[in-house]
Amino acid sequence: MEVLKLENLSKYYTSQTSVVMGLSNINLSFSVGEFVAVTGESGSGKSTLAHVLGGILPYESGELYINGHRTSHYDSADWERYRRDLVGFISQNYGILAGNTVLENVESALRLSGIAKSEAKERAEDILAKVELSEYKSRRASKLSSGQKQRLSIARALAKPSKILIADEPTGNLDRENSEKIIALLKKASEDRLVILITHDFDEAKDAATRRIILSDGIVVTDSELRVNEYKCKKDITPKQIKKKRTLLVPYVASLTLRSRPMFSAVMCLLLAFTMFITFVFLGTFTLALDDTSTRIYDTTAFRNGDPSRIVVMRADGQPLNEEDHARILSVKYTESLERAGYINDVNYYYRPEVDYHLYYVTENGPNYHPLLNPDDYQVTENVEFWETGLFLRTVPKTNDVVDISGKLPEGVYEVLSADPDHKIGDEVKVYIRNQNDWSVSAYICLTFTVVGETDSGEGLYFSDKLAAMISGAVKNSPYTSNGAFGMIFAPYAPEQFELLSYLSESGKVVVVEDEDDAVVTDFVLNDNEFIYPGSDDTEIDLKWKYPFSDANGEMVYLSCAAMYKATYPALMIVTESTFERLTSFAPSNQASLYIKDYAYATRVISDLEGMGYLAISPFRLGATEIDKTLANERSITIWVCLAALALTVILQIILLRAMFSSLYEHFKLLANIGLVAKTALGSVALLMLFFTIVGELIGGAVIISLNALGVARITELFAHLEFKNVIVLIGAHLASVALALATTLTAINKAVFSKKKHREDIDISQMEEA
Ligand code: ADP
Ligand code: MG
Repeated sequence: MEVLKLENLSKYYTSQTSVVMGLSNINLSFSVGEFVAVTGESGSGKSTLAHVLGGILPYESGELYINGHRTSHYDSADWERYRRDLVGFISQNYGILAGNTVLENVESALRLSGIAKSEAKERAEDILAKVELSEYKSRRASKLSSGQKQRLSIARALAKPSKILIADEPTGNLDRENSEKIIALLKKASEDRLVILITHDFDEAKDAATRRIILSDGIVVTDSELRVNEYKCKKDITPKQIKKKRTLLVPYVASLTLRSRPMFSAVMCLLLAFTMFITFVFLGTFTLALDDTSTRIYDTTAFRNGDPSRIVVMRADGQPLNEEDHARILSVKYTESLERAGYINDVNYYYRPEVDYHLYYVTENGPNYHPLLNPDDYQVTENVEFWETGLFLRTVPKTNDVVDISGKLPEGVYEVLSADPDHKIGDEVKVYIRNQNDWSVSAYICLTFTVVGETDSGEGLYFSDKLAAMISGAVKNSPYTSNGAFGMIFAPYAPEQFELLSYLSESGKVVVVEDEDDAVVTDFVLNDNEFIYPGSDDTEIDLKWKYPFSDANGEMVYLSCAAMYKATYPALMIVTESTFERLTSFAPSNQASLYIKDYAYATRVISDLEGMGYLAISPFRLGATEIDKTLANERSITIWVCLAALALTVILQIILLRAMFSSLYEHFKLLANIGLVAKTALGSVALLMLFFTIVGELIGGAVIISLNALGVARITELFAHLEFKNVIVLIGAHLASVALALATTLTAINKAVFSKKKHREDIDISQMEEA
């Protein structure tokens, strides 16, 4: 019975403008055991016949029978199966996997026809011995000579257990000696196969062929039997439905492709590393811009000190934090130091002797020298305020790092540790302390401290726990008179302070000591158990009367009013330092200020602290209320630029990946001709892409980590914000964009490699006749 039979088969090549006849009304049949030589002039349709028989080209009319079965209804899957299981095709240009080794070439044909891995290798070696290529088995196919390449091509065809072998001018590029070898191999193959040899040189085949067909202009002009077909077996060839281990072909084809294209693979990995990096930068910047805290103007109402790296922590029960709390809080990741006396952290201090803080005032744009102030005549106006230096009271903090200190830590109320390089141990420093949120505008406490230790870490001064507790007391627990309804803040009397007040008085603003004449304030001496009272012109106070106050221990203390100065409410009740120390309750603060490495970690630290049962807030975030228009604009530009860049990356990635994979079309076409089916091919591409993506992301990740380690500013900032969930989002976004590119790439590959025009396309006859 015939393996192949053509019945009135015609094949046209149609293009937009013309129709070319390839084969016209062919009637032929072929059996196993035949060695058919098809000859004819160039352009006579030999190749067309070979490709139609090989299931590579569709035909338009008539019928091709395979093993007696019609094929006109075949879809592309049927043709794939036919090519895979029943036909071996050899062409003039070899059709070998140039990038793979000789052994891999033969093995792949066996594997694709469903033969298991171990067996495929054994059989491949046998076949290579037959075509005399054993010694070249590890060589890249592209490095072979023409004769060797064609023998390899035959080896690939022989590797398949198919009964049909079609060779289209296999000797076209070969010399006599190599041609003879090829014909001999084909002759041997024809012992149990149908061999159809296309040749323009009948002489080379005349001793081997059993039959000769001559084509001319797509028509069979001669069909003559030359020898008897000795193959007697008439058994049907049924397509071998080899199912064993077919699923393993996806990784096999992927690895075959990977091995054949080392450069391609490297470029792919780098490309994906690059898109990963770009995604990191723009997605990171985008995410950062989503937190608009930094586009807002800091409002100091709740917390004077809006240091972004500051987290205010309290115990849930409101009790002061103890040593154990301190240790637990500092054990949280990304923390740097803990200011235990939290309240004082919102109290400003000023200490630089070269700066007369009164000469400055605060504007929207920050501190400014007052325009009306002429240092010669001190025209002080209502607007005069202390200059905000941004220095806030603090004690020596608990830190995770070791702080270098020479001298000793401050213990006494008036001792400080200084980080100011101008200070040395033993220096006296005059410090103005000012609590702008709770005290009246111009109220301040002036104290003189002694430097007892020096350090290089930070700037300014570190105060003692005692001073901190005292100021905390003055801030929050100011004792007040039993008869006065309002809270008063005690401030220790210092002659300098009065000088300053009297100086303001000269300008007509604040101080009038209740005295007959103009007060010569410098002469004024305040004693222990006396106070100076703030008031206005119409304040009446009995200077002889003793006023009761509760001291730090809750005991009653009677102080007498020694003088009065004019001030806007609320203001300070001035006492001597020793009275101040006695009256202010040395209350430990029940809130602490935790300093973290960067604002980037604020959310994580706060949630960790809350998880541990503490109350935690970011004053910076809390105080960021009013939006700064310029910054907000910049932020929205940033957001849009990032989104545009991300979209561009996605599009670029699609274009690049498709372009890259188009270089593999030939490779897949070759594999398809020996039986690679679309599903397996696309699966292997997906697998390859997954592999490239993983390697790419690892490379991208390594680059990001390296740049972070090198301290590249933009990267370290983005890196600091990279929480675990962000990493997931980043990888997810990158994978999604790769998946999108993969989908379009798969479509393109499927179209370029596997889509076969529907067989029997309706031909426009009128158009045909015109042509
Ligand atoms: P041979 O192999 O005998 O040289 P072919 O089968 O290649 O001949 O070609 C037969 C005819 O079909 C020729 O006229 C050729 O120009 C035409 N032909 C072959 N391939 C195509 C094609 N892809 N598109 C249009 N015409 C083609
Ligand atoms: Mg040809």
